Amino acid sequence: MSLINENFLELQDSYLFSTIAKKVAKFTEENPNKKVIRLGIGDVTKPIVPACLEAMHKAVDEVGTQSGFRGYGPEQGYEFLRKAIVENDYKSRGIEITEDEVFVSDGAKCDCGNIVDIFAKENKVAITDPVYPVYLDTNVMSGRSGKYNKEKETYENIVYLPVMAENDFKPELPKEKVDMIYLCFPNNPTGTVLTKEELKKWVDYAKENQSIILYDAAYEAFITESHIPHSIYEVEGAKEVAIEFKSYSKTAGFTGIRCGYVVIPKEVKGFTKGREEVSYNKLWNRRTCTKFNGVSYITQRAAEATYSEEGKKQIQENINSYLENAKIIKQGLEEVGFTTYGGVNSPYVWLQIPKGMTSWEFFDKLLEEVNVVGTPGSGFGPHGEGYFRLTAFGTKENTIEAMKRIKKLKN
Ligand code: PLP
Repeated sequence: MSLINENFLELQDSYLFSTIAKKVAKFTEENPNKKVIRLGIGDVTKPIVPACLEAMHKAVDEVGTQSGFRGYGPEQGYEFLRKAIVENDYKSRGIEITEDEVFVSDGAKCDCGNIVDIFAKENKVAITDPVYPVYLDTNVMSGRSGKYNKEKETYENIVYLPVMAENDFKPELPKEKVDMIYLCFPNNPTGTVLTKEELKKWVDYAKENQSIILYDAAYEAFITESHIPHSIYEVEGAKEVAIEFKSYSKTAGFTGIRCGYVVIPKEVKGFTKGREEVSYNKLWNRRTCTKFNGVSYITQRAAEATYSEEGKKQIQENINSYLENAKIIKQGLEEVGFTTYGGVNSPYVWLQIPKGMTSWEFFDKLLEEVNVVGTPGSGFGPHGEGYFRLTAFGTKENTIEAMKRIKKLKN
């Protein structure tokens, strides 16, 4: 008789995007003449830039020749890409990271999810609330949560750090000792950021408590303000306590191509039960070699091309146009009296919905009255209630039209 991993039974079904899809499908079926504008899901819409396409075409031709054929590559990523990452994403910001501290992957979702493999089940986990759901669910699957409390909508063993208008979307340090801390900035879903000084508090906490920060910087490319750090390693001491996740998905439109990377500095250490220090880099390398066979050569050449002069320019143009959409959304909402957050260093605008309405009620109102789709904040955690997420990843035309419509919302 095979026994199942019962941790999976603790998972709560996430109805968020499937419920949205069902509601939108029903509405369009009943209202075939109404054009619905989708500003809900966080997928990009702009095509891959020419520099990356050229690199991929070239790589395709190469692997079709005897001398250029590539079979299994290094599990951790090709040297050319790891080198480009070190030079462009770290050295250029004055951060010393070595190539063997970088592990190329098929995206940040897998990395954020798989990283739990190298941590003991006994570790206490802290997440912000609302949150990108992968951090929580992967810890539930691997047995680090207790029972789910339906009333509170939280798990017993997880420490929730509320981020809301009342604390300016800056999570407070946990009152109890935690071992693994997930931080994501620029944040999904709130679109807010932390300064270096604010992040330093977390690095100091982690050092003091021998905890590890799991820092998701998937939206780093959207940072516009010069004082906001693009990497946690810009903060002094972070190399001893932080693991950083990066992704080409939102930066370069690779949501379908799939490529990202994780950085684990060799100084980042954990402990055995006998208090012996072990490098997480070594453990992750072992895991990677055992469970992963690398990202395709063609994809890695495309990722490398994001760092070429042309690539950088073309990608920046796309990011700028998403950021312009974010501005249109933010200004449009504020003109009609909504309070908004994010949208300056992020493709996400987080808005406070009218008092007395749940975020799902606001979703229905927006869909039915003005045919615009967004994401209810409560889908990201209990402290997301009262808020709503709109994304800047649509076309400019649709974004402008959506804002025109929202201005017509009835009170
Ligand atoms: N991290 C955050 C915070 C995200 O919002 C997303 C995707 O929406 C990801 C990671 C996933 O990135 P990837 O496409 O590289 O798997």
